[in-house]
Order: sequence, then C-alpha cells, then structure tokens
Amino acid sequence: GDELLQPEMMGSEAEVAFEGALRPKSLAEFVGQQRVRGQLQLLLDAATIQNRTPDHILLAGPPGLGKTTLAMIVAHESGRPLRLSSGPAIQHAGDLAAVLSSLVPGEVLFVDEIHRMARSAEELLYLAMEDFRIDIMVGKGAGATSIPLDLAPFTLVGATTRSGLLPNPLRDRFGFTAHLEFYDADELVQVLRRAAVMLELRIEESALIEIATRSRGTPRIANRLLRRVRDYALVHGGEATRAVVRSALELYDVDELGLDRLDRAVMLILLTRFNGGPVGLNTLAVSVGEESETIESVVEPFLVRIGLIVRTPRGRMATREGWEHFNMQPRNDIA
Ligand code: ADP
Repeated sequence: GDELLQPEMMGSEAEVAFEGALRPKSLAEFVGQQRVRGQLQLLLDAATIQNRTPDHILLAGPPGLGKTTLAMIVAHESGRPLRLSSGPAIQHAGDLAAVLSSLVPGEVLFVDEIHRMARSAEELLYLAMEDFRIDIMVGKGAGATSIPLDLAPFTLVGATTRSGLLPNPLRDRFGFTAHLEFYDADELVQVLRRAAVMLELRIEESALIEIATRSRGTPRIANRLLRRVRDYALVHGGEATRAVVRSALELYDVDELGLDRLDRAVMLILLTRFNGGPVGLNTLAVSVGEESETIESVVEPFLVRIGLIVRTPRGRMATREGWEHFNMQPRNDIA
C-alpha cells in the first residue's frame, strides 16, 4: 500500500477517471488556497474587461495539490478551450512548434511538469510567450534560415513541482506565479465531503476528519484513501464510521499521521539503532535497505514537514515529537 501515499503516482484507470469527475469546475468550488484563488480571479476579471487573453500563469507546488484542476478552471471560467501537454512530451523544439502553431485563438495551453521540457523548446517558448510568434529553423549549418510564424494569442499555464529548476528567463515571462500550499484538515474534510457525495458513500463527520488527518495535506491522497475506505465499508457492510476508517487504513498501513511502512521503518531505525541520531542520510538509507535518493526525495521531506525529524549539519535527528509518536524515549546510557 506504499503507493497510496505517493501523490506523484497516478494510480489505476479507475482512479484517474474518479479524479477527473471530482475536479471542481469553478474557482468558487475549489477548496482552500484562498490567496491564489483571489489572485487568479483578479487576473481573469482584468482580462475579461480588456477583452484579451489572460496573462501566462505558473502554478508551483508539490504533486496532488490542484495544479491541473486550476488550469482547467482557468479555461472553464474564461470560456476558452484547453490543450493539455507536458514537459516530458516536449523533447524537441519541433514538438512545441507543432503544439503552438495549432492553437486556436485564446486557447489555454497547460504544460504540466514544465521544468522537464527540452532546452531547445524553452527558447522557442520565450518568443511565443512574449510576442505570440515563433521562428522556425529550416535547414542546417550555413544554409539554415529561420521563418517567422505568427501564432494565435494564447494563455500558457505551466505547472511545476520544482520552480527552482526553471531558468530565470522562463520564470520571468509568466505574468503571475501561484505557490500552492498544503491543505489543513478542515479543508481536506471539505474535499472529502464532496467526493463522498460523488461516491454515494454515507460517512460520519468524525470519519472524514480521521481520513483528512492522515492525508499528508494533499487532496489527491485524501480522495484516494476515501476510495479504500469506501471499498472496506462496501465489503464489511454499512456506513463508513470512524472505526471503519481506522480498520481500513490500518489494513493499508497508513498510520494516524499518514506515515506509511517505509516512513515508519526509517523512523524506527533512527530511534532504535541510532538513538535518535544525528546520523547521515546514506547510513540511514543503507540501514533500511533503500536508495538514499528515495529516502531524500520521498520519505524525508514529509517527516521534516510534520516535525518528526530535523536536518542538522551532522545528520538527521529525531525530534521530541518523533520519539513521542513512537511512544519511545532516548537512551541515556550511550553517548
Ligand atoms: P496536481 O496537478 O497539482 O498534481 P490535481 O489538480 O490533479 O493536482 O488534483 C488532484 C486531485 O485532487 C483531483 O482529483 C482534484 O479534483 C483534487 N483536488 C485538488 N485540489 C483540490 C481543491 N482545492 N478542491 C477540491 N479538490 C481538489
């Protein structure tokens, strides 16, 4: 059940379809992110008043927080068609030229994981974003010429989990950058309530809270856990109570804080074998039998975010909360 808690994993076809059905269609229905919603609303309203395409928008933040959903909302609220693309799909300038030259006037172009686009395409994009124009290179070497091509005006909505990886010239060409934050439990309860209605699942308020607090601040995870709870309730009969949620999530190895098996393995090794640290990342990774890459990018950020461990110059250390979550205490008999 480890993938259940990894928002970058897309999951089954059924889950993708469920996600699609769950996406709010308007800014008003979009839960939380109040600042970003206000900023986007203003940007869309200003474009409407001036009868022009909205400025280019960069959406930055961890996976599963609603970037794709917001891109769809931007298109829907401004009554424009939407084209979906992604950085990994744009490996050559030509890939991008093909997309850009086929846009209809006013179209919203969503490029997910825009930081993974090819460098050669990035340069093409600068001019396109600025002047709605591209230069298409024809031929090679000394005989190469460039043919200018006018594009239909469009709005680029780029999404990235790593805004730091974007080259400055690209970042600067977005009129607006929205930084999405993790959701609090109240907000996730609202997300879940909507999803429960769609699943025709009767569920107690306390059960919703129980799922929300285990969802790592991430709507995609919340919705995913809800589906597992729905299955459990279906098989065991009746309503989704708090007890049902607890049993279902125990079955899937998701603890009260949303830690999965690997998170707990890392914590337990840190606490027992290294007496809470400090210990180097590589040593820790070897001890749990995982790549240090995985520990650093998948496990550690969440443990740091919820305050169970800290990074120090001498290595990773468990915090008091870290010890308490496992009902353990540091030993004093060793240095
Ligand atoms: P991202 O593109 O950032 O990875 P998505 O837009 O695909 O995230 O969102 C993942 C899922 O979470 C979708 O099913 C979406 O409906 C839901 N979701 C995300 N943010 C919200 C929100 N603010 N309100 C309601 N549902 C949300």
